[in-house]
Amino acid sequence: MPGSLDGSWRERASARDAAVGAFLQLDPSIGAADSAASGPLSGTTFGVKDNIAVRGYQLTCGSRLLEGVVSPYTATAVERLQRAGAVVAGKTNLDEFGMGSSTENSAFKRTLNPFDHGRVPGGSSGGSAAAVAAGIVDFALGSDTGGSVRQPASFCGLFGLKPTYGAVSRYGLVAYASSLEVIGVLARSVDLVERVFAVMRGEDPRDHSSLPWESAARPARAAKAAKAAKGGARGKTAPLCVGLPRECAGEGLCPEVRRTLEATKERLAGLGHAVAEVDLPTLEHVVAAYYVIATAEASANLARFDGIRYGRRAGGAVNPEELVLASRSAGFGDEVKLRILLGTYVLRSGFQDQYYLRAQKVRTAIRADFARVFDSVDLLLMPVYPVPPFAPGSAEADPFAQKLADVYTCSANLAGLPALAFPAAVEAGLPIGMQLLAPPFAEDRLFEACRGLEKIFPSPDPGAP
Ligand code: GLN
Repeated sequence: MPGSLDGSWRERASARDAAVGAFLQLDPSIGAADSAASGPLSGTTFGVKDNIAVRGYQLTCGSRLLEGVVSPYTATAVERLQRAGAVVAGKTNLDEFGMGSSTENSAFKRTLNPFDHGRVPGGSSGGSAAAVAAGIVDFALGSDTGGSVRQPASFCGLFGLKPTYGAVSRYGLVAYASSLEVIGVLARSVDLVERVFAVMRGEDPRDHSSLPWESAARPARAAKAAKAAKGGARGKTAPLCVGLPRECAGEGLCPEVRRTLEATKERLAGLGHAVAEVDLPTLEHVVAAYYVIATAEASANLARFDGIRYGRRAGGAVNPEELVLASRSAGFGDEVKLRILLGTYVLRSGFQDQYYLRAQKVRTAIRADFARVFDSVDLLLMPVYPVPPFAPGSAEADPFAQKLADVYTCSANLAGLPALAFPAAVEAGLPIGMQLLAPPFAEDRLFEACRGLEKIFPSPDPGAP
């Protein structure tokens, strides 16, 4: 066990966690032996969302159905971080199977926002965000299927990276919607996000959708070099052209978020970047397309949880069919059941043209829309969420309102693009984040722009618990 994780580390971590409830399991001793003694990340600790496998730790996905399950293997992303010297501190709370935006859908506990205990930390990686913001760990991993890294990062004043689809191996991530999701990272500085990403990324023979970083990122690097040569800005940060979709700038944002967007535009301009309005007409269709595709994939992915192979088995059943029915009825929470039903509905025989195939066509149009816009701009600026961190039980916490509010985040997932959420304001004590999106494998461009913004507005500190 590294010296930095001695008794006083544990005491401090437990006290901080007791205040916010970020962890479902907090115990660095379980995995410490799996971390290299030295490496580029030695001396750092991290939290792992409890839908990502770490050998010896529980893997509940925030679900009663998987209560008591202990993972026999480790996700590739985590394994690479351990090899780089980072130590797993424990497993963080989440909305069940990643379904939600407030972490209220966890079957086990509520996680509080470290900035205001009366507000949610966001979700579904809310435990990961709270763990970093409360100063328990240096960084945390989350999964982003429709915004679940960026939205909690934004609610807790952090940087949150959703990498390009395929940049980070999904091996060991329990699937919710496989074609949309990717493992991402939350931290208090751009530098640490970048260092963690550099370790995690790259091809993995155990995930055939993962790509070798060097060759995948080559076009983005070449574009950057060409631009620098043209502008004569060799060695310096070349000014970037940042597009702001007209559809994101006005209606639908509450005043605090709108003000934060304006302030961010000014900061980007102050850094020498050009900000121009662009059209992204497909944006109005992203929530509908996302919820058809995500629930369709969820209904298939979650079929494996039957109470037979893993997790809790309901008692009293007389035949296998009854056993599966009883186990799933007792084990899944309401939001998960709703999504399985919705996914089954959109996939039912004879109706696929109406919903699933149509959503796939919309997805293609969204990708084309982004590709067209990225012909003329380097980055896109978008809000992360239309409202600041909300209170449990408020109108914003309504499950339907939460789904509509995914509009700004889930477009990047449908298009497979990288996006980095960054802290941009604290209003009435509550953090508000914005995000930048880039073309596939142009994460470096996101880091470069956010480093400038970070100098003007660093990650805010919630203060002592
Ligand atoms: N809020 C989105 C949902 O509920 C985000 C989920 C995610 O990214 N895991 O589907």
